[in-house]
Amino acid sequence: RKIMNSNFKVREIDIDGIKIGGKNAIIIAGPCSVESQDQIIQIAKAAKAAGANMLRGGIFKPRTNPNDFQGLGIKGLEYLLEAKRQTGLPIVTELMDTQHLDAFIKHVDIIQIGSRNMYNYSLLKAVGETKKPILLKRGFSATIREWILAAEHIAKAGNENIIFCERGIRTFEEYTRNTLDLTAVPIIQKETGYPIIVDPSHGTGIRALVGIMSEAAIACGANGLLIEAHTHPEQSISDKDQTIDIGELEQITKRIALLK
Ligand code: PEP
Ligand code: MN
Repeated sequence: RKIMNSNFKVREIDIDGIKIGGKNAIIIAGPCSVESQDQIIQIAKAAKAAGANMLRGGIFKPRTNPNDFQGLGIKGLEYLLEAKRQTGLPIVTELMDTQHLDAFIKHVDIIQIGSRNMYNYSLLKAVGETKKPILLKRGFSATIREWILAAEHIAKAGNENIIFCERGIRTFEEYTRNTLDLTAVPIIQKETGYPIIVDPSHGTGIRALVGIMSEAAIACGANGLLIEAHTHPEQSISDKDQTIDIGELEQITKRIALLK
C-alpha cells in the first residue's frame, strides 16, 4: 500500500538555493558533451530560457569505443564556467578520475558519477570525502541494492549530499538503448530518503521517447530530470539520437510544471 504513494519525503539537497528533493522537480539540461565555448554558451542561454534550472555537459566522456570523441577535458571546464557566468545556471559534469577532483571541488556545482563508475569504490570514497553534491548514476547492470550500497560508500566517507539518478539498465530488450526502470524512483525514495532524478535520454536512447518518459518520471514522484538537449541536436558529437532540441525542452518544462 505504501509503495503506491509516490510522495515519499526525501531530504533536500541545496545547490545555490535550488533544492533537489523540494516541492519542485528540477530540470538539468544540456548537451551530452561540451563541444566548444560557443556551443555550450548558446545551449545554456537557450536552455535557461526554456525553463531549465541547471546546465549539464560532459567534459570527460566515458565512451564505449575508445576511438570516439573523448571530451574536451579540463579545457571544457573553462567553457562550462563561462556558460555559468553568462546565465547563472549551476553546472553538473562527470568526474572520471580523482586527478581532477580538486578542480571539480572548486568549480563544479554537482559532481556526476557515471554509470560505468558506480562500482568504482575508490572514486566513490574520494567524492565522499568532499562536501559536494554528488549525482550518482545507476550502474547499467546494477541492482537497486548494489546502487544503494554504492551510495553508502559515499555517505560512509562523510558526504550525505547524494542525488540518485536512474538512467536505465541493460535487459534483454533491444528496441531501446536501455530499459528505464521507473520503479526505482519510489523504491529509492522509500529505502534511502534521498532524492532521485531520472535521465530519460540514456534511459531510452530515442529522442521521441524523452518527453513522454519525462512526464512518466515526474508522475511517479521523481525529484527532477537530467535531459540531453542541444540547439542543433543533429550536430551533436555524441548521443545525437537521444538529444532533443530546445523547443522540445521547453514543451517538457511546461508540461512538468502542470503536473505539479
Ligand atoms: C552522461 O550522462 O553523459 C553519461 C555518460 O551517462 P551514463 O553514465 O548514464 O552512461
Ligand atoms: Mn550522453
